[in-house]
Amino acid sequence: MKTYPVYLKGDLTITEKTFVVKNPATGEGFARMSSVDRPVVTQAIQDAHEAFHGWRHLSGKGRGEMLHKIASELHRRREEIARLITLENGKPLTQSQGEVAMATDHLRWFAEEARRAYGRVIPHQVDEKRHLILKTPIGVVGAISPWNFPLVLAVRKVAPALAAGCTVILKPASRTPLCASVFAECVNAAGLPAAVFQLIAGSAAEIGQEFLDNPLCRKISFTGSTEVGKKLIEGAAKQVKPLSLELGGHAPVLVFEDADLSDAVEGTLAAKFRNTGQSCIAANRIYVQRSIYEPFLKAFVERTRALKVGDGLDPEVQIGPLIDEEAMVKALEHVQDAVRGGARLLCGGNRLERAGFFFEPTVLADVPKGGLCMYEETFAPVAPVCAFEKEAQAIEQANHSAYGLSAYAFTRDLGRMFRLAESLEAGMIGINDGVPTATQAPFGGVKQSGWGRELGSEGLDAFLDTKHVSIGI
Ligand code: NAP
Repeated sequence: MKTYPVYLKGDLTITEKTFVVKNPATGEGFARMSSVDRPVVTQAIQDAHEAFHGWRHLSGKGRGEMLHKIASELHRRREEIARLITLENGKPLTQSQGEVAMATDHLRWFAEEARRAYGRVIPHQVDEKRHLILKTPIGVVGAISPWNFPLVLAVRKVAPALAAGCTVILKPASRTPLCASVFAECVNAAGLPAAVFQLIAGSAAEIGQEFLDNPLCRKISFTGSTEVGKKLIEGAAKQVKPLSLELGGHAPVLVFEDADLSDAVEGTLAAKFRNTGQSCIAANRIYVQRSIYEPFLKAFVERTRALKVGDGLDPEVQIGPLIDEEAMVKALEHVQDAVRGGARLLCGGNRLERAGFFFEPTVLADVPKGGLCMYEETFAPVAPVCAFEKEAQAIEQANHSAYGLSAYAFTRDLGRMFRLAESLEAGMIGINDGVPTATQAPFGGVKQSGWGRELGSEGLDAFLDTKHVSIGI
């Protein structure tokens, strides 16, 4: 079994302590990842702090050129990395290929943004003074990423942090650390100075605590569950440590009677079943206007039934396995709870009898408001559908959630598009679009879905301090 390295101060290091990484399509271990203890994390932060001075003083253009080199290396190794994502995460290979392409695009975007950390000169209040606004890099960043998009969500932090002039230590999810290890190899091949980027793996609680407690770590950028996000908020209070938080979601989809039905079905299918339903922006609640409720359900169920489930390495497969047994238990519980509450099970609902963690793509109709799946993230290919009568009711139901990451609507009415865009409580809204993410647009949520934005020009800001310099003349 191959052991993958961490990356410390410019060295790809295989440690004595390792842990097994499993393939969710088989449930079997297929590789090992190196693992470090807390003192190594302390040292990595110290090394990143020392490397910060040199890195921040490189020009934006110089840092951008380094990011372009990493992007080229990632692109060169794209097939190998995509395969590795499918092995450790389970997602269909075409989606892994898409993930690598998007990560490469993020690197190239932030390579260019590195030159655009603009400050400004503001008009003075008294003639004896002039005022500059400068943007300066925050310092050492601790980045923590989840398993569901193991490469792209790590790069979404690392690329802007490096572009801004920060040094970064990445801790990937323990279920999917391997593509991060290969990413570290790409950084190494690109020739970044030692300790500008480092990769660690190990106990999340220990690493997270060191990021929180160590005053040299100036910022934590976290993507993961709201539950862990709240723990980080508590821990960060001691040093008032800045946090960027990309947390859970519970996206509503609103399908109006004026929508193009087939576009609405395809868009909802993409929003629901991409990454086997294990996406923070996955459709969790689908509200369809009463007059088209049954035709929508008929078409949606037909398309859902046709989705091919299996090992993501099979090029025909559209739905891979869930990440683990815990995810399987949750999916079953959500379906059973909805059915107990009176929902109609229109297709799926069962675990597939084979190795790994395969769950049938599932559609539930008439799901009661209080059903578990109507307020908890299911993180599985389970689509709960309900009917609504009027636009106002649909908006009210859509906003009835602690989360506010993304929302979707299908309509051809321009006025309604604006009303929805303004009133839906979500950081990202897809109108006639089931996959609204774009490198150049800000990504993030409101309410309990988090703080701050990644991507777009906002993405760089998360790693910059704003300084006012007042000059007497
Ligand atoms: P998670 O359990 O919160 O884990 C995310 C990361 O945090 C992992 O690297 C994990 O490490 C680490 N972690 C766990 N406990 C920690 C602690 N006490 N201190 C510091 N770090 C800790 O979430 P997940 O199950 O991997 O991911 C699914 C969740 O992420 C869902 O809620 C999803 O909606 C959310 N998500 C949000 C976005 C977004 O952009 N808003 C994107 C993707 C996913 P270990 O793996 O070692 O436990």
